[in-house]
Amino acid sequence: MSVPVSQMYTVASYVLQQKLRRRKRYPFVLMLEPLFRCNLACAGCGKIQYPAQILKKHLTVEQCLAAVAECGAPIVSIPGGEPLMYPDIDKLVAELVKLKKYIYLCTNAILLKEKLHLFTPSKYLTFSVHMDGLREEHDEAVCRDGVFDEAVEGIKAALQRGFRVTTNTTLFDGASPLRMREFFDEMMDLGVEGMMLSPGYSYSKAPDQEHFLHETRTNQLFSEMLSKPKRRWKFNQSPLFLRFLMGKKDFECTPWGNPTFNMFGWQRPCYLLQEGYAASFQELMDGTKWENYGKKSGNEKCRDCMVHCGYEATAVDHTFSSLKGFAETVSVTLSGKL
Ligand code: SF4
Ligand code: SF4
Repeated sequence: MSVPVSQMYTVASYVLQQKLRRRKRYPFVLMLEPLFRCNLACAGCGKIQYPAQILKKHLTVEQCLAAVAECGAPIVSIPGGEPLMYPDIDKLVAELVKLKKYIYLCTNAILLKEKLHLFTPSKYLTFSVHMDGLREEHDEAVCRDGVFDEAVEGIKAALQRGFRVTTNTTLFDGASPLRMREFFDEMMDLGVEGMMLSPGYSYSKAPDQEHFLHETRTNQLFSEMLSKPKRRWKFNQSPLFLRFLMGKKDFECTPWGNPTFNMFGWQRPCYLLQEGYAASFQELMDGTKWENYGKKSGNEKCRDCMVHCGYEATAVDHTFSSLKGFAETVSVTLSGKL
């Protein structure tokens, strides 16, 4: 794992506090979507299909900060759309840094180089760059040639100026484990702090419906890709989540772990499904029928879902729920063997 010690400490003490308070459900990462518009139109995207009048709108910084305060999660992930197209992204990030929130600004990095001057390097700010594989695979996934090279330029510029940079990769059926291993090498050569992986979710709105992974294929792909992992590969996520993707652990989803806030309110029940919106975080937590979600519920929409926003929180909670979970995490982290 490649998360800095101060971030690990913040997350660990937050989770332990929740446990001491016997809080049954608590948020881990706030998914804050200030806007939905993007400068790309990827085939697997489930976020950019809104009508033009919605795509033109965005949240105010005040609305974003109110959501951050309501939720209380130690990590704020800013996906989109493309957050670098949000006109107040610099103000929002500066305010979140003041609040000592660990920010993952998820970007396709097309605008990264030209917008870097808006930000100051900080341990609290990480640019999480969307990279779906090597040049050929990435450009195909984002449906535009040249984007991989632009993203690499953005990553190099950010690293040169001392920013934390990670990559986030969504995998679809047909991904080659060997090419992905080459991709891990290339990203480590670039000097990124760590990589995040997740299978894609079969958004009903996404134009490409054929290539979403199902559970068995997910296990097969991740097992082949991550078998005998090189020590130089660093992953910016829970090793237990990676073991789950490889089929070595059986977890249930924690949909409240990554609550989502956007211009419609608090999205029910998770980042992926839109089954209504709550007016407040408390209403989301108290008024959502959580038993209707996750694999055990039998909900068709959850059947094949193994996405990080549902299961990473489960993996982290598992680490701190028992000595066994903690020992397993430490052992995998130290040995580097998944
Ligand atoms: S870069 Fe992200 S938000 Fe933009 S179209 Fe692609 S997947 Fe969607
Ligand atoms: S299993 Fe996936 S789709 Fe279902 S609630 Fe969890 S994260 Fe959402």
